[in-house]
Amino acid sequence: MSSPDIPDLPAADFFAVESMLGQAERNKLAELRDFLAADVAPYAGDWWNKAEFPAHILPKLAALELSTPAHRGYSNLFAGLVIAEMTRVDTSLATFFLVHHDLFVESLHAFGSPDQKRRLLADASNLRITGAFALTEPLHGSDVAGGMETRARRISSGTGEADDAGDTWVLNGAKRWIGNGTFCDYMLVWARDEADGSVRGFIVDAGLPGVSRSRIENKIALRTVQNADIVFSDVRVPEADRFSGISSFEDTKELLRSSRIMVAWQTVGQQLAAFDVARQYAVERQQFGRPLAHFQLIQQQLVTMLGNTVASMGMMAGIARLQDQGAAGMPQVALAKSYLSARMRETVALGRSILGGNGIVTDYRMAKIFADAEAIYTYEGSFEVNTLIVGRAITGVSAFGG
Ligand SMILES: Cc1cc2nc3c(=O)[nH]c(=O)nc-3n(C[C@H](O)[C@H](O)[C@H](O)COP(=O)(O)OP(=O)(O)OC[C@H]3O[C@@H](n4cnc5c(N)ncnc54)[C@H](O)[C@@H]3O)c2cc1C
Repeated sequence: MSSPDIPDLPAADFFAVESMLGQAERNKLAELRDFLAADVAPYAGDWWNKAEFPAHILPKLAALELSTPAHRGYSNLFAGLVIAEMTRVDTSLATFFLVHHDLFVESLHAFGSPDQKRRLLADASNLRITGAFALTEPLHGSDVAGGMETRARRISSGTGEADDAGDTWVLNGAKRWIGNGTFCDYMLVWARDEADGSVRGFIVDAGLPGVSRSRIENKIALRTVQNADIVFSDVRVPEADRFSGISSFEDTKELLRSSRIMVAWQTVGQQLAAFDVARQYAVERQQFGRPLAHFQLIQQQLVTMLGNTVASMGMMAGIARLQDQGAAGMPQVALAKSYLSARMRETVALGRSILGGNGIVTDYRMAKIFADAEAIYTYEGSFEVNTLIVGRAITGVSAFGG
């Protein structure tokens, strides 16, 4: 991956992971980079400051045809580098892309009926409609699998009475933190079946009566992403909009494992961005009559940032290899997500420090990179939850509590 601003210095992709791609994939990545440089980089800080989502760029983003890369014949490494590169320029845009494509569209691919796919897949893949993934609840985040309180009751629309062969479901409950939740056309809602306690998935039209959404305000991270609190009050969803392929939370594990890989790639993108900005600043900013880059302590900080970044890319290239072999299990993925989240936190903190006071204003990019890292640290299984998944796998003992 090139460092566009300092062409005569080595790229932050110091071990040239990108060179493992074939030429066609490298060309596609270059296309993405051109789009990001022209249509995203100059404006991303402003969108973030104003907490505004740039819906107007979606047609151009869709035209790149990068969504759900596996269905388009791209490699796993390429899919990861796309997310890293997008994150490197704007974490919020990458998060929008992940929620829509890796959670909503992939769910349609994995669990949708032929009719659901026919109705939604083409438009969703081309961003003519947008989707959200509504799992987390106000009172249940890390423990949502067991603690989910949103309820689904199956009824007959004719009688309004409970009917285990009825044509309608009634949803009641609340979801929190739902990305794209304020403006999406559809959301994939997870709810517990009142009849047997199992978790079911529903494609809910956001315009249905009983759905109310409010934007979560005053965020310090991913401000461009529109996260919502969503309340469902007697929302009637046709049986035809239930995912018939889901009969328990276990069924979603494969999906969450894949999206977690993409979030782990976001930790790489964050570090590439932090290194790009900090190095440029260090070679330009003068103190004591010379650039910061002349000071040994600054060089050591930059080298630590680079080492973290290169190690993170190497680990993710290893995950891509395991994916190719069908051997990237949740413990491996959880290790990448937790370990690299910690590396990311160190890297962005060093970068912020190198920019001194300018590191706390978004005008210099670093403050946004620093703040956005906190959201990545927490979502798709927090650092602690992913650590506990690995701990359980390597000891045979669950330390989740409860
Ligand atoms: C910006 C953003 C976007 C998001 N987008 C979505 C979305 O689109 N859809 C969606 O469904 N959700 C989304 N989420 C929710 C996200 O998945 C949750 O925030 C996450 O799962 C953590 O849940 P929580 O915030 O309720 O924290 P809690 O579960 O309340 O955890 C609080 C703290 O306790 C720790 N903790 C919890 N349990 C244990 C334990 N057993 N041992 C040790 N420590 C523990 C956690 O690691 C964390 O540090 C998003 C969150 C954010 C911040």
